[in-house]
Amino acid sequence: MMGQNSYHELKAWLDQRKVNLVAVSKTQSIESILNLYQLGQRIFGENRVQELLEKQPQLPSDIQWHLIGHLQSNKVKQAVPIVAMIHSVDSIKLLSLLEKEAAKANRILPVLLQVKISPEATKYGFDEQTIIDELKSSQVTSLSHIQYRGLMGMASFVDDETIIRQEFSTLKAIFEKLKAEVFNHATDFDQISMGMSGDYQIAVEEGSTMVRIGSLIFGERK
Ligand SMILES: *Cc1c(COP(=O)(O)O)cnc(C)c1O
Repeated sequence: MMGQNSYHELKAWLDQRKVNLVAVSKTQSIESILNLYQLGQRIFGENRVQELLEKQPQLPSDIQWHLIGHLQSNKVKQAVPIVAMIHSVDSIKLLSLLEKEAAKANRILPVLLQVKISPEATKYGFDEQTIIDELKSSQVTSLSHIQYRGLMGMASFVDDETIIRQEFSTLKAIFEKLKAEVFNHATDFDQISMGMSGDYQIAVEEGSTMVRIGSLIFGERK
């Protein structure tokens, strides 16, 4: 794992810019997660519901678990009661399912809408061209147990910085457009989750408010 000093340096760099840190703990051991918890980290990100369900009961209850990976319909029921936020909401159908389960769990669920800004980083996400129309033409923006907090996106895994920068800047532009045209009454639609170990500095320059960093903190995944 990253030494204590470098974690604090990263955290200070992000704090200075008012950017939230999601420590991506997928594949990491309970012990590694606890080490980081002891340095003060409280937000952790997992990409698989099954792994989250195994880890969550073994770790302190004030950890805020963010689900960052694709959520399958058949996992919604188990995920909803234990997650603090879902970054990977990628369809209208999923929103309807989440509303139903959040109502049953008697909670308001904070979500980010995932937008596909890269032709290759992931196959999931709303289409950047049609997300506004899709949201407007469905009834989902008024769901009473869903709290729309913002957007999430992943840039292409390429070395060319201009491509990465372009994709992040596209996400920021879609965010502004949605904020003006769809979520203009939601004062808490204020998060842009973008940036990982390899590209978080570019993401922050392009307006990220939340980075998802794994290997830089924990070391390479096995
Ligand atoms: C694994 C993962 C990350 C973190 O990746 P690193 O390169 O290890 O920082 C961020 N976001 C998502 C969606 C991931 O699956």
